[in-house]
Parts: sequence; C-alpha cells; structure tokens
Amino acid sequence: MTVAPLDTARAHRVAPGAVLNLEPFSSFAHLELAAVQCTAVDADGMLSCVQPDCARQFKPRLQNQTYCCAACKRADTAEFRAVGLKAARPLLVWRTYRYAKAGTPEKALCGRAMAYLNRLQSGWLNSRKGRTAAALKRQWSRGRVARGPAKPTQKGVLS
Ligand SMILES: [Zn+2]
Repeated sequence: MTVAPLDTARAHRVAPGAVLNLEPFSSFAHLELAAVQCTAVDADGMLSCVQPDCARQFKPRLQNQTYCCAACKRADTAEFRAVGLKAARPLLVWRTYRYAKAGTPEKALCGRAMAYLNRLQSGWLNSRKGRTAAALKRQWSRGRVARGPAKPTQKGVLS
C-alpha cells in the first residue's frame, strides 16, 4: 500500500497561503521510523495491521504497507482527521503565545492549550493501545493468532 501524494491544490483551497505542502511525517522521518521498527515484519513475514480495531496479522504485498486493507486505512485516516481537528486550534494557540510574558492572559491560554494537547495525546494513545489489545484478545479467543500477541504499546501509534 502506498501513501497517496498530498494534493497540493486541495490543500491550498482548504487553507489558502498555508504551508500545507509539508511532506507526510512518514516521509519526513522515514529513517527514524524504520530504526524504531514499529511496523517491522516478523520472521514469518507477517505484520500486524496498525488500525487498532483490527490489528490483524497479514502478509504485506507492498513495501511500507502498514494496513491489511483499504478499509482499515480509511478508518485510521478518518480517526487521524478527527484528532487533527481537535488538535489544530490548541496547536495554533500554543505556537502563537509560546513566548508570551509570564502572568499574562496569553501565557495562561498557552498553558491551557498545551494541557489540552497533552490530554488529547494521552487519551488517544491509551485508546489506541486499549483497542489494539482488545482486537488481539478477540483474535486469540478465535484462534486466529498462532503466536504471541504483538506489543500493543507500539502498534498503531507510528503509522
Ligand atoms: Zn486491518
């Protein structure tokens, strides 16, 4: 499965003048992601789907394939968009007032933005870990996982 290139024209329609043509994180940090091997295949050539509600083991057909199917990729993309919508405003607030003078309302707002982002990140990560663990448990109970479960702390996080 390949990552679709960013539709720059669409990005500029959504946010004219914005620098949304930044490359995907998977390209930007591909060496570091490969070093962490969060989506590395096992000795049998199998990989766990990074969509946390799935976590199904599959044999990747393409290099850098992280989802078992298009439906899982769509589901995760929708989830990423939803989280992005929650994160966008506090990200801007935090970056705008990052160097505000201590004791000002702007600095207080900046602090709340960071607190919100920390809650969002922690909540999302815990949700993904829990959903991955539940998916693996379902697979175990159905006998679909022949070997030890994947480590849910890494799956579905860095796709
Ligand atoms: Zn899947």
